[in-house]
Amino acid sequence: MATILILDDRTTNRDIFTRLALTLEPGVQVQSFGDPQEALVWLASHSTDLVVTDFRMPEMDGAEFTRRLRHLRHASGQGPAPATDVPVIVITAYNDRAYRMRALEAGATDFLLSPVDHYEFLTRARNLLRMRWQQLELQRRAESLEQKLEHSTRAQEEMLRDSRAALAQVIDTVPALISAADRQGRCVFVNACQAEFAGATPEALAGHDVERLFGRERAARSRALDALVFETGQALPGREEETETPEGQPRIFLTTKAPLHNGRGEVVAVLTTSLEITDRKLAERRLGHMAHHDALTGLPNRAFLRDRLRRELARGRRGDHAFALHFLDLDRFKAVNDALGHHVGDELLRTVAQRLEATVREEDVVARLGGDEFAIVQSAVHGAEEAANLADRVIAALSEPVFCEGHSLSTGASIGITLYPRDGTDPDELLRNADLAMYRAKAEGRQGWRFFAAAMDARAREAMRIEAELRASLGREEFLLYYQPQVELRSGAIIGAEALLRWRRPGHGISTPGVFLSIAEETGLIVPINEWVLREACRQAEQWRAEGLAPVRVGVNLSPVQFRRQDVRALVLRVVEETGLPPDQLDLELTEGILMEQDQATAAGLQALRARGIRISVDDFGTGYSSLNYVKNFPVDRLKIDQSFVRGMTSEPNDAAIVRTIVELGHMLRLQVIAEGVENEDQLAHLRAEGCDEVQGYYFSKPLPAEEFARLLRQPQPWQRLERETALPDPSNALSQGM
Ligand code: C2E
Ligand code: CA
Ligand code: CA
Repeated sequence: MATILILDDRTTNRDIFTRLALTLEPGVQVQSFGDPQEALVWLASHSTDLVVTDFRMPEMDGAEFTRRLRHLRHASGQGPAPATDVPVIVITAYNDRAYRMRALEAGATDFLLSPVDHYEFLTRARNLLRMRWQQLELQRRAESLEQKLEHSTRAQEEMLRDSRAALAQVIDTVPALISAADRQGRCVFVNACQAEFAGATPEALAGHDVERLFGRERAARSRALDALVFETGQALPGREEETETPEGQPRIFLTTKAPLHNGRGEVVAVLTTSLEITDRKLAERRLGHMAHHDALTGLPNRAFLRDRLRRELARGRRGDHAFALHFLDLDRFKAVNDALGHHVGDELLRTVAQRLEATVREEDVVARLGGDEFAIVQSAVHGAEEAANLADRVIAALSEPVFCEGHSLSTGASIGITLYPRDGTDPDELLRNADLAMYRAKAEGRQGWRFFAAAMDARAREAMRIEAELRASLGREEFLLYYQPQVELRSGAIIGAEALLRWRRPGHGISTPGVFLSIAEETGLIVPINEWVLREACRQAEQWRAEGLAPVRVGVNLSPVQFRRQDVRALVLRVVEETGLPPDQLDLELTEGILMEQDQATAAGLQALRARGIRISVDDFGTGYSSLNYVKNFPVDRLKIDQSFVRGMTSEPNDAAIVRTIVELGHMLRLQVIAEGVENEDQLAHLRAEGCDEVQGYYFSKPLPAEEFARLLRQPQPWQRLERETALPDPSNALSQGM
């Protein structure tokens, strides 16, 4: 029902307008006033749907009235009056244009000319009333919507709050350390378990730097891993972490990291979950120690020794690392054991073990092979003399009498020594030959040492022959390169090729570097040979590129000898220039030895190459100094996990741990990690689970002659399809699939 207010100082007009207004619709209410002030008083506490006012009035004109109406406060003093937005019709004379302007400015809605045409009055009034209804209806709907929204968000909030509380309870009761950190490294969430471990409350940790939660060292590590998750948007597979409680108790955790997304799918935080596995790990370690150590003396056992030899051999494959193996047998031990009993014999063995350990350097390994046989791996020896010196010291240490249960026992030892690479190239051969040399020492009157010498002459003669043949072959172009594909795990695509040197040795078919590399290095022949390798590899890669094959980065092995004798930087730049290969398609494979030994000039040279875009990989990573310091100081692009670890990773926990560490550290330093020597699906699955970036090995392909490699590049690779189909983000799935 509409209410209409009429304001006019003349009674006749008021009556006319009132009558007209009453015909507008049934039930309409009309309030009429002659005095604007009175009308305003009424309007301050009543609502109305239309105001019709005359312009010319003695006290206050229609414009001023409208202005005051628009600004009218409610009679109660609280807020605006109900009629402030009501439509206002102002009635003016035809020539009152200036008045109309004033009325409009004051907020009038419409005008009628006086004398008023009845029909026009009714039409305008009806239109304005309809507008008013619509306006009120809209307002009402908006209000109800707002109310509904308010209500529903309140309900939702309550529900959310309830489920959040439930979730928080769950998260606080699971026996795991859970926290999340944002891009700035601040804790956004810490569960009770994690807070307790850090010796604080969740409230005291939230919003603070993760350092408060993890301590400086772990925080730095955690941040680096978080950065990786932010960058890739991918979860990190679980990895083991050792840490301490605030009381200094060692704890081992299996820690995983996963991205947390906001509504738009952006990673806003990284969730870190750590499960404690201390007991399991310690048990595992005890078992591992038992498997690799001798219970009586606590020394490494034969299995451990073979492992160590394997590693030394991996390091030595290039000829820039030599080591000695001492095989040691106690003299007169059996007599002591028989005469004085086992416990005295045991005591004697323990004392011998201690003295041996005290005689060698930290990097050497003393092992007990069984009975009264011991062995020493003397790492990084520079010639036979150094090995002889150690043998002398060992014999001196063991010739001091041992006091045991009131007996003064004198024992001694005979030692056989083999040198790598001179006396053998695998663990068994070295052990066998050292054993033979030891018997020779015993036969020649105990308490002494002998080098293994039987094969020495033959080997020396063979070496001389190879050297002469190598020289001749250099001029006759009897070298060639094989290429082994390097596959990107994510895509299954061939993205690189390692160039591997082969020698078409007259009368011997095609020889691998094992046969001739150490001789080429000793004689310096490797310098011209490798210069050829570099040029040929770059030429070949550029040719493939020109033929339109998918671009592959070509890997070239450099020898430490080159760095000693040649300006490697100048050579590489020259070859890249000559062949036209884009520098970022060349990948130089260097050993840890080269990076460790480099002087400032070589370091600068390598830096310069990198600055030109040439890639640098650390080959055989893990076999050398196992120190990442030089990698940190010298920015390389890629770590190549040595094949000995890849081979052992599915059976030896040690090797698996090393692989994991290399991948992790590599990624922390933003390096690519490639594994070589991948021979089967198990190894591949493991490497995938560890997050390795690239792989190379017989599983994909043996090294191939250039034409065959090009053929491989042209055809779709069978494993490429396989990778895509079975590429699973979850490592446990990948493992169970036997990928
Ligand atoms: P590397 O750099 O570690 O090269 C990898 C070696 O592992 C190659 O042996 C390759 O054939 C082999 N290999 C690849 N995949 C597998 C696998 O799945 N299982 C097994 N058991 N072996 C695999 P290769 O060609 O006999 O080379 C031996 C070493 O000779 C190389 O070791 C590298 O250190 C050196 N070398 C090769 N070419 C050159 C060269 O042009 N210059 C220099 N200075 N050294 C070279
Ligand atoms: Ca290599
Ligand atoms: Ca290698």
